[in-house]
Amino acid sequence: MAYKIVLDAGHGGEDPGAVYIDRKEKDDNLSLALAVGKILEDNGIDVVYTRTTDIYQTPFEKARFANETGADFFISFHRNSSPESGQYNGVEVLVYDKKGIKYQMAENIVGALGELGFKELGVKERPGLVVLRRTKMPALLIETGFINSDKDNQLFDEKLQEIAKSIADAILGTLDEETVESPLYYRVQTGAFRSRENADRMLYQLTDQGFPAFILKENNLYKVQVGAYLQLGNAVNMEQRLRDAGYSTVIVTR
Ligand SMILES: [Zn+2]
Repeated sequence: MAYKIVLDAGHGGEDPGAVYIDRKEKDDNLSLALAVGKILEDNGIDVVYTRTTDIYQTPFEKARFANETGADFFISFHRNSSPESGQYNGVEVLVYDKKGIKYQMAENIVGALGELGFKELGVKERPGLVVLRRTKMPALLIETGFINSDKDNQLFDEKLQEIAKSIADAILGTLDEETVESPLYYRVQTGAFRSRENADRMLYQLTDQGFPAFILKENNLYKVQVGAYLQLGNAVNMEQRLRDAGYSTVIVTR
């Protein structure tokens, strides 16, 4: 199943976000959101953008739009700002609370950007932010450095593609960890043959007798198995029925 992720380039249109000299946060946010989106799309993610051009949306509109897509994640791109230029630098990721997969993903993103040279300011809880509070899916807001820090701007400009790759990899890596735990099934094996013909013969016999049998090719053997059960007890019941019908059996897991 492909994941669907909403990418939100923060601010836009009449709302420039933070401004530093002639640099506007909304433009940086859009460049990074599009660059991350391209990589995610190349990796099979269904990417939806709140905006791909310089248009204005309220945070409420962004959240409502995200909810309407039914996406699995919402990721908002921003850049930080401090009262005085050059006062702070570094990356942080904001979440509604430090729970669940979004927190894991946020930690992974901060760590990945730290490796590129950004100071790691960490993951912070910001339950008051509309795009974190009003979105129904796990939501993150990435502050990729301070827009009024020359150090962060230099990193942002020189390493934009690497930054996008790092963020995308952190997202994809978090999703991989999440899906790796597939359920364990118990199956009842009635035979393992070198020849496909022999396996087919047993398969036909089993299906004739109403057993849900199938063939699995593994290590050059054609294994004839019956059923796939999450509960061991159900596999034991099937094993008994098969033994009553004259088959020799073994329960396997996969
Ligand atoms: Zn912002």
